[in-house]
Amino acid sequence: MSIVNAKEIMVEAAKGKYAIGAFNITDLVQLEGVVDAAVELKSPVIIQTSVKPSKFLGTEVLVAIFRTIAASAPVPICLHLDHCTEVAYCKTCADAGYTNIMIDASKQPYDGNIAQTKEVVDYCHKAGNISVEGELGTVSGVEDQIKVAEDEAQLANPEQAVKFVEATGVDIFAPAIGTAHGVYKTKNPKIDFERLGKINQLLNGGGVKTPLVVHGGTGLPEDYIKKLIEMGGAKFNVSTELKHTLIDAKYEYLSAHRDEYDPGKVDVAVRDAIRKAVSHWIQMLGSAGKA
Ligand SMILES: [Zn+2]
Repeated sequence: MSIVNAKEIMVEAAKGKYAIGAFNITDLVQLEGVVDAAVELKSPVIIQTSVKPSKFLGTEVLVAIFRTIAASAPVPICLHLDHCTEVAYCKTCADAGYTNIMIDASKQPYDGNIAQTKEVVDYCHKAGNISVEGELGTVSGVEDQIKVAEDEAQLANPEQAVKFVEATGVDIFAPAIGTAHGVYKTKNPKIDFERLGKINQLLNGGGVKTPLVVHGGTGLPEDYIKKLIEMGGAKFNVSTELKHTLIDAKYEYLSAHRDEYDPGKVDVAVRDAIRKAVSHWIQMLGSAGKA
């Protein structure tokens, strides 16, 4: 039905106190599994790729697949480039047809982060209906090529967050609040809910203008997710869980059918496993029926 940018569906989500899932894919089968779940549950959805698979598959190829599938899906879908540290590749993806770009200059000094983020914002806004996500502070763990140790992770300062959003013009904003990439090592990760709430109050207290993103969705307990949505989280990035789902589904199928040489059946198993995992997230985020 509609190819949308991330901001438009997130503004609706923030107003309605639910959130949109941004699901990581590395190939066509996973993309179809994500869309299956969104269509079945009538939910808006964000497909996201990190930089490596985007380059591996080919930017143009990936966008062509996305557009073909999104065109016939009866729900709004966004294609998001996650954690891109290269301004030039952000522009390449914007030109190719991604509808949300995350420039991650969070490892740069504050001024450098502002300069690079603003450059991407200006480019994307001029290029068309593309929203831009910026990050302040750092999320620990590993995401694609970016590795941040937990003790290096710096949480976003609320007042600085407001200045960052104003100076860069980002459409959606990812403040570091203690969530982590990868698998949480503890059952009770230390998340600064109040920090998210404070930033949301400062940015969106007078009406939703800059919806907020929560990174490191994998492994967050459901009650944490609900509380983060309450505090203003309108997009949850889910990457690690889907990587595990992909590998486990393939491994389990192949282990059980070692003498069968039918790639199509492996694909069906993966697509269905991804559909189930994404459906669970859509239910938790409350976006079912919102398309
Ligand atoms: Zn992330």
